[in-house]
Amino acid sequence: MKVVLQDLTKKFPASGKASRKEVVAVDNFSFEIPDGKLIGLLGPSGCGKSTTLNLICGLLTPTSGKIFFGDDDVTDLPPENRGVGMVFQNYALYPHLTVLQNIIFPLQNLKGKDKLSKQAMLDRAAEAARLVQIENLMDRKPGELSGGQQQRVAIARALVKTPRVLLLDEPLSNLDARLRLQTREEIRRIQRETGVTTIFVTHDQDEAMSISDMIVLMKSGVVQQIGKPQEVYDDPANLFVAKFLGTPPINVFDGRVESGRLFIGREAVLDVPGAPDCEVDAAIRPEGFIPDENGALGCRLDRVEVMGRDVSVVSTHGSSQNQVIRSIINSDIRIDPDAENVRFNLKPHKVFIFDKKSGGRIRFGGSLNG
Ligand code: ATP
Repeated sequence: MKVVLQDLTKKFPASGKASRKEVVAVDNFSFEIPDGKLIGLLGPSGCGKSTTLNLICGLLTPTSGKIFFGDDDVTDLPPENRGVGMVFQNYALYPHLTVLQNIIFPLQNLKGKDKLSKQAMLDRAAEAARLVQIENLMDRKPGELSGGQQQRVAIARALVKTPRVLLLDEPLSNLDARLRLQTREEIRRIQRETGVTTIFVTHDQDEAMSISDMIVLMKSGVVQQIGKPQEVYDDPANLFVAKFLGTPPINVFDGRVESGRLFIGREAVLDVPGAPDCEVDAAIRPEGFIPDENGALGCRLDRVEVMGRDVSVVSTHGSSQNQVIRSIINSDIRIDPDAENVRFNLKPHKVFIFDKKSGGRIRFGGSLNG
């Protein structure tokens, strides 16, 4: 089911207190979510992710704008008539009901033509349990399950009504690191198997990048960029996006462009043909550094951390905005850990320059960067 968000805006009014101003939680959000895709809705705390999800499921009404499921305008439909499945961070299972009773629960309230026989309900519950692989836990109560198993029950309960759209709000937050990894892959598998259009809210960029067909990155209610994870990583629209995606994070320097050359400190580090003369934020991905004793950018070497296949060269520079610069280098390249300085050449497609004031991208050259 295609989901269309059309100029969606949600404002929360100012409260009585003078200190509380109106909040624009979602600001003019337009996006056509293709049928059957998994969309990662990503951004820092308070950027409007949950509000967007609550607008789509109908728990909130937009201040303006419209929401369509396929060709149906669902903007004014109550949640129960939208055909959405929701999974929240706290699984909210009924503690006194068994797993089977929890999964079946949403089916028991169906009325009229949607009403199901007991057997049909059991069949649907068995199918949902199979999808999330908890068939052997059906007689247990939630208290007798691990966090990961409880989350699977919550997902089965959301899937049992064969929703048109599945909405997941930080579904992995309560799980430990290993289970988070495992469960996010499970979610991807289940989504592929069911083909249900899914919107997955998270503030964890690794999580969103690894399982999403497309990511939407938000800041202060405003969409910053929409695209395939790799495309957004490789071609960030602004400094916020560049900084939000990637581990280790991108290295940002105070720089300036003069006559088509990018300067960091006094060194001309890269040709940036076509870029206007101005002060810039110059951002270099950790994998964008090539050690070279005659390299253009000189840094003070702090330490070399061994990571197996790669090494992380940790250095400092007077123009760096990050406390340390992290460059990821293939471990075949030998770096003397006792040296005082290290010099690098830069891979042009791993260097982005941004307007100091607006944070907007300044493009240069003829390739991806141009
Ligand atoms: P988190 O990751 O912390 O859950 P989020 O990205 O989901 O954050 P939202 O919960 O959508 O963010 O909130 C967006 C903005 O709207 C925030 O500034 C928040 O304080 C505000 N907000 C949310 N709900 C209300 C409300 N009912 N009344 C007033 N302001 C609200």
